[in-house]
Amino acid sequence: MKEKIFLISKKLQQKFPKFGINKIRELTRLIFEISKKDSIEYQKVIDGIIDKDYEKIKEVLLKQRYPKTYHKTKKENFYLPDFDIGENDKADLSTKKFNPKNIYYTADVINSALYNRIKNLFPKANFCEIESLKKFLKEHKFSTEKYNKRYENLFLVNEKYDFFKRCPCTKGVNCCNYSILNIGFGCLYECSYCFLQGYQNVAGIILPCNLSEFLTRDKIKPVDNKMFFLPRVGSGEFTDSLIFDDVTHFSDDIVKFFKKNKDMSFEFKTKSVNIDNLLKIGGSENIVVSWSVNAKQMIEENEHCTPRLEDRLKAAQKCIKAGYSVGFHFDPVILYDGWHEGYKETIDMIFDFIDAKYIKWISIGSLRMAASLKKVIEVRFPDNKIMDEEFLLSHDGKLRYEEGERVSIYRYLVDLIKQKDKDVVTYLCMERQKISN
Ligand code: SF4
Ligand code: SF4
Repeated sequence: MKEKIFLISKKLQQKFPKFGINKIRELTRLIFEISKKDSIEYQKVIDGIIDKDYEKIKEVLLKQRYPKTYHKTKKENFYLPDFDIGENDKADLSTKKFNPKNIYYTADVINSALYNRIKNLFPKANFCEIESLKKFLKEHKFSTEKYNKRYENLFLVNEKYDFFKRCPCTKGVNCCNYSILNIGFGCLYECSYCFLQGYQNVAGIILPCNLSEFLTRDKIKPVDNKMFFLPRVGSGEFTDSLIFDDVTHFSDDIVKFFKKNKDMSFEFKTKSVNIDNLLKIGGSENIVVSWSVNAKQMIEENEHCTPRLEDRLKAAQKCIKAGYSVGFHFDPVILYDGWHEGYKETIDMIFDFIDAKYIKWISIGSLRMAASLKKVIEVRFPDNKIMDEEFLLSHDGKLRYEEGERVSIYRYLVDLIKQKDKDVVTYLCMERQKISN
């Protein structure tokens, strides 16, 4: 990839010696993306340029790169950043069993149950006391290459402030009043679209050792939203809710607390099938185990190292039997050739496996991302196809599909779900009010 970009840029400089660095950069980006998306030689795209005027060349290339949206989009909404490629940036897609080599901890955790369990589980790991995570991060430069090996490092800390908070959502959208219980940071799965890879500055997994201190009525105060059966709080924002549960046993304390507090609901949001603890403890209606689901082809191509759709649905069946409610998240919905059939198949499967009366909600969100994530995805997943689609800069600085496409995704999925069961609660995540209507 690095070499290809270098060659495109060099050829453009030879063909247009008077163009400055920014113009060459933008044209390089466009030619690289056209060549990748349409599977044609970049030289062919360069040879096809007959104009000499930069603006005209850019217009022709933009039309080629964005054939569906060019005519409906303002120029400033096309995002054409520079490339940012280091050595060894490609993600490691092998399935990993969590077995950290280095365990960093702060002195205040050593009497915690989690620290002692980890000591027993990973006796061969190198245990190293640190003054604070903040100081450690200052002294250890983060890089994508190190992020690719994050499974080697575990940080055990006491969380002081950020256990419970309102979901940050994004400006100008229909907020669903979700609240988050922060049970860790980092994940071992490798979803090509994962926002953590562009957000996280820690090359490791962080687990808090003092969760139980925060499971009290005065600290857990979710906000009501009439759409849902109870005020909602959930984990799974900065990590998968259950991926580490066999190590942390966090579900023990959480389930115990919410079984006693049935005027609010708790959601474990996951792609995993790590449900043994949940099954052992047994659930109640206000505890919702929810799965992020996708079209099978998208799971195969983008949700690397995660369980198959069938396995997620079988885990949901077991959780229902153990007394839990369930939920599903079509998030992110990804456009690809055949998306209509792909997502229909997943909806059919959900309602074949699960009795709708146990489903507390199904959310839908189309693929979106902070603009800066685009460069991270392309270096970590150079063979990805998701970025070949037409993403445009939105009102909040995020890249999204064009509005009309998003509306057609939502209408299609909501209609299919309502045909299965008209009473299932559906909602859109991070969408503007007018689209949500
Ligand atoms: S709509 Fe999505 S992002 Fe916004 S508050 Fe709800 S869950 Fe959070
Ligand atoms: S499961 Fe969620 S947190 Fe984990 S890699 Fe995938 S998107 Fe990221």
